[in-house]
Amino acid sequence: MPELPEVETIKSDLEKVILNQTIIKVDVFRSSVVKQPEINKFKAGLKNARIRQIIRRGKLLVIELETKDKKTLYLTVHLRMTGQLVYGTFDKKARVSFKLSNGGYLCYNDQRTLGELRLVKDWQQLSVVAKMGPEPLSKEFKLNGFSQQLSRRLTKIKPLLLDQHFIAGIGNIYAAEALFLSKIMPDRQACSLTKAEVCLLFKNIKQVLKKAIKCRGSSFSDYRDGHGQLGNFSQHFYVYGRKAQPCLVCKNKIQRIVLGGRGTFFCSKCQK
Ligand SMILES: [Zn+2]
Repeated sequence: MPELPEVETIKSDLEKVILNQTIIKVDVFRSSVVKQPEINKFKAGLKNARIRQIIRRGKLLVIELETKDKKTLYLTVHLRMTGQLVYGTFDKKARVSFKLSNGGYLCYNDQRTLGELRLVKDWQQLSVVAKMGPEPLSKEFKLNGFSQQLSRRLTKIKPLLLDQHFIAGIGNIYAAEALFLSKIMPDRQACSLTKAEVCLLFKNIKQVLKKAIKCRGSSFSDYRDGHGQLGNFSQHFYVYGRKAQPCLVCKNKIQRIVLGGRGTFFCSKCQK
């Protein structure tokens, strides 16, 4: 599933090519991905709307539109497992396509069709957004608050990092990498972390996300950037997807367990 760095990469790619374009035609080839409103209203609302800006919140992309009668609407795109939002020529795999005034197409592809598109007046009122935790790369994410929250939690640290109500945008890859860099075992109780470990984790969450954005995200399964290209951060994984391979720090074999229903990679020598 695309996480914060992948969605941020798509956002910045699309900003360069679709801002100020007008949507002249919308085709919905798989209606189940359009969750709100019903298809005809969805299409009518988007037709002749101009793309004003693109926002990212957690793993959600929000495209701000000005409709033909000067109202503001938001197209929200949650890519879930295999969603892609790619600018270019028409793609016959598209589940939804948006033809733009410059002749290009914005195509929503989604092999497993678990993604969700919505056209709404107020995206911040969506329940998924209203309950979302802080953005880890923003000023609202503070060491003090993070530390206090962790000290109250009896849950295991890795599933907690994946909880979008706790912190937004982190998924299975970056949780595993941030915990490795912080030398913390993924199954530790959140409240058992020492002050030093909390500081390290806070710093490494930001660092790993920033580095992954620089590398244009991690390519695994279906992730593609806004131009349909692969990301490069996968080459920098310490633990994710490296079961039985030697740890890059101590040569011990990387292990995989299932924690909170998710595959979890770690080095039992480096992480305590
Ligand atoms: Zn190691």
